[in-house]
Order: sequence, then structure tokens, then C-alpha cells
Amino acid sequence: MKYDVIIVGSGLGGLQCGLILARRGMKVVILERQLQPGGCMQSFRRHGELLDTGMHYVGGIGEGGCLYAPFKYLGLMDLPWQHLDPTGFDRVTIGDRTFKYAEGAEAFIETLSQDFPQERKGLEKYCNIMNEVCDHLYDAILPRDEVDFFTQSLFASSTYDFLHETFNDELLINVLSGSSLKMELAKDTLPLYNFAQGNNSFIQGSYRLRGDGNLIVNRLMDQIKAMGGEIVCNSEVEELVEKDGRLVAARCKNGEVYEGTWFISNAHPAVTVGLVKESTKMKKVYRNRILRLENTYGMFTTSLILKPGSLKYFNWNQYIYMKPNVWTYFNEEGPVQGCLVSCRCPIEGDDARILDILTPLPWEKISQWENTTVGRRGEDYKAMKERLYNECIALAERFIPGLHNMVEAHYSSTPLTYRDYTLTPNGSCYGVRKDYHNPMMTLLSAKTPIPNLLLTGQSLTLHGLLGVTMTSLFTVAEIIGKQAAWEITQTK
Ligand SMILES: Cc1cc2nc3c(=O)[nH]c(=O)nc-3n(C[C@H](O)[C@H](O)[C@H](O)COP(=O)(O)OP(=O)(O)OC[C@H]3O[C@@H](n4cnc5c(N)ncnc54)[C@H](O)[C@@H]3O)c2cc1C
Repeated sequence: MKYDVIIVGSGLGGLQCGLILARRGMKVVILERQLQPGGCMQSFRRHGELLDTGMHYVGGIGEGGCLYAPFKYLGLMDLPWQHLDPTGFDRVTIGDRTFKYAEGAEAFIETLSQDFPQERKGLEKYCNIMNEVCDHLYDAILPRDEVDFFTQSLFASSTYDFLHETFNDELLINVLSGSSLKMELAKDTLPLYNFAQGNNSFIQGSYRLRGDGNLIVNRLMDQIKAMGGEIVCNSEVEELVEKDGRLVAARCKNGEVYEGTWFISNAHPAVTVGLVKESTKMKKVYRNRILRLENTYGMFTTSLILKPGSLKYFNWNQYIYMKPNVWTYFNEEGPVQGCLVSCRCPIEGDDARILDILTPLPWEKISQWENTTVGRRGEDYKAMKERLYNECIALAERFIPGLHNMVEAHYSSTPLTYRDYTLTPNGSCYGVRKDYHNPMMTLLSAKTPIPNLLLTGQSLTLHGLLGVTMTSLFTVAEIIGKQAAWEITQTK
């Protein structure tokens, strides 16, 4: 059978593109190497509980928020969303002081101005930039030719410099950066665009699921199947076959061959160029550019299954740092110095059952095991994971005294785990690192030199549910046109 669209990878981006195109009447197949779909969105069962990989919270899905329209179109707004505490959806503890992020620009400014009265003007400027960048979120698919100089200038601006030009108080800079474990805080590269987009949607309103990340995956999959689309797991694409300058087929490791008209790769761009073995269109210069891109850091995650009745659910995200070194702590030696503690919202009652603790783990700290595979990394690797687990618990106990004794079971993963499941180089958490010195080289277009091969996913422009959804629209716009993609952003 010949497909209209073949999608490599069933991460959030692959599933979203698949659904939009299936809804346009196209015959879609999604090929996934793992035994289950979802990539970083998937949940996995341990100790009888479903644990999350990369879904803890999302911003901007309330009515009027920047993700509301596409989520509505994608059928995701009916999921059981839990609105996080508007008076403090993110709380940042630095040393022995805790600061709250309140929902909405006004409340956000007001709350932090109480702690930093002399910085009110700076906070107003900060929120203005956040709001403005959000207004331009979907500009790349505006169905008219307009150059967005505002957004372009933010791609070329340094987050670190912006914060230091806007604020005098170093503690406030740490507080404002303190919830940014959801992106890589790299002083020398992080563009203001990515920082602003990454934060603003959450200030609009933050939500988590009453349940696990598979709710999103299953909702997208069910709709794709209902439209006649297929999702085939355990099917790793090993070659995208080109003929006369266009791709004609995807060949899988299991011997299956799928012929198609359009091809979308949701795999990491470096993986994608490796799949195109012979090409008259994809020249060495493009391949080298992609292969040379650096990646953001990976994450150590420990998921705790708590003893029943030991902890009450808390309706916010708790970030904890030992000291105001939010931009550097993950590169420093010594025990874990900063983490995010995120509580799964129970489906019923108010007892917490699952708690995730996340802390960045740069590749250099685990590269000694790079030649090992899942389950065969050796005793020293297990000991390293156990040490990090204990350090995370010790840090989290500043917020939840006695946490150690509440744990019934725990499961930890490192960037090596992500690498081996999703093939993302170095198990990077958020894909390709963007560099404000060089936005043209580090921001990737959905288009490739092969006219019927498109890219999608977190490595292109922006990561997370926001970035991947935005990018899915940019990708499908190359097939269905900008007007049709734009209309999705106007869904009521
Ligand atoms: C620990 C962690 C916590 C996070 N927390 C949040 C959060 O709270 N909120 C938020 O918004 N974002 C969060 N994120 C980020 C978010 O999860 C990701 O940005 C997003 O899920 C990435 O989606 P993607 O479409 O780019 O693809 P991926 O999830 O990277 O999926 C790519 C898929 O392609 C498949 N694949 C690769 N190569 C092949 C091949 N050759 N053949 C077939 N299939 C292939 C992989 O197996 C994978 O399923 C988190 C990420 C991590 C790692």
C-alpha cells in the first residue's frame, strides 16, 4: 500500500502531525521503534503504577491561552486537566526563602514586587516582553508575508544579559530563572526567545493532568485511528530511500517497506540525516551542519511511589536550590544542588501517590557508561543512580520533611535511558541547543533539501508541549498550506 504521509517516530510531534493530516483526509502511517508510542510523552508501568517520562505540566491551555486553540483542535481540551494554584503555581526555594509565581501578569508582578519592591519596573518590562513574544507565537504560519523583526531580535538576544540589564538584584534573577529547569539555562547560548516562550505560557495559567502522560498519547492515537491512520510500533526505520531526488520509501529494520508521497521525521535531526543513506539532494554541507549541532543537557529523574496516606497532594511545582547559583549548579561538583519536585494529581481523594524529582545531569557526568545498554550498565552505574536518588531526597526533604520514610518504591532514569529509548543524542532532554550568537544555524526549518522530507519535533525551534505543538503546525503548513495551519490556531 502507498501512504500519503509516512511519519518516523510517534513522539508528541509525530502524533500531532499525524492527526492533523489524517483529518485532512490523508492516508497516514506512523512508524515507531519502541514497543509503545509517545516518545517522551509516554508513561510506563512499575510497581502497578503508571510513571511519567516527560510530562509534568503545561501552560497556556486555559481559554485565551496560547495553546488553547491547537489543543482544542487536537481534542486535548477534554482531558482531565488540573489547574495549578493561581496564587503560586511554581514556587522557588533558594536557601531558606521561598518565592511564588502567581498566575497572570498583574498578579505575577504584584507578588514578586512584595519580595523585591525596588524591582517593580523591571518586572513590568519582563512581563511585557513575555506577553509580546506570545502574541507572535504562530507568526511563521501567518498567511501573509510579514517579517517579524520582534521575534527575530529575541532569537539573537541573550537571556542572561537581558536579565542582568533588567534587574539589579541577583536573588531576583535567580528566582526568575529558578523555574527554568524546564529548559537548559546555558549562559552563553540561551536565546531570550526560548526563555520568554518557555515561561510565558505558564504565567498565563499552568495545568497538569489528573492522570499520566499516556492520556495525551492515547487521545491523539485514538483519533488518528478513527480517521483511518495507522501507528505501527516495534518498527525502527533504518533507511529513507531516495529516487530521482525524492523520497519514495521507508525501510524498517524488521524488513517492512512503506511507500509514501510525503515523509515527516519526528526523530532527532541528527538521526534523520543518518537515515538518508544515499541522496542527490541532501549534500554533505547540510548533513555536517546538522551533525555539528550541540544538544541540551539530559535529566536525572527519580519517580517515587509513596506509601498510602503518607503525603497530601500539593497543587504546585516546587523548585529547590541550596543557594542562588541557578545558572551554574548543574555543572558544579558535589551533591545535587537543585531540583524540581512535582506531585502527580490523584484521580480521587487528596493523598499523593507519585512524586517525581528531576535534576539536570550533564553528559560528562555519565559518559563513562556510554557504551552500555539498558539493564546492562553494571553495578557502579546502579550505585551512581542510588547516590543521586539519595541526594535528591535529601534536597527535597527541605520541603517535605521525612520524605525518605514515605517512599514505598522508587525508579530512576538518566540521560542514557532517554538515549537508548528515543535515540536522542546524549539523551538530551530538550533537543538541539539554540544559540543566540547563531540563530540562523541553530534554529531549524521543517523543510530539508529533499522536497518531500520534512522535520518536526522539539529540536526545530522550541521544546516542550508548547514548542512541539507550534512546530507541528509549522511542519504541516508545508503540506496543507499556511492558511489551513493558521486556521487551527483560531479554533474556538
Ligand atoms: C524528563 C523530562 C521532563 C519533561 N517535562 C516536561 C514538562 O513538564 N512539560 C513540557 O511541556 N515538556 C516537558 N518535557 C519536554 C517534552 O517531553 C518534549 O519536548 C516532547 O515530548 C518532545 O517531543 P518530540 O515530538 O520532539 O519527540 P520525542 O519525544 O523525542 O519522540 C521521538 C520519537 O521518535 C522515535 N524514533 C526515533 N528514531 C526512530 C526511528 N529510526 N524509527 C522509528 N522511530 C524512531 C523515538 O522512539 C520517539 O518515540 C520534558 C522532557 C523530559 C525528557
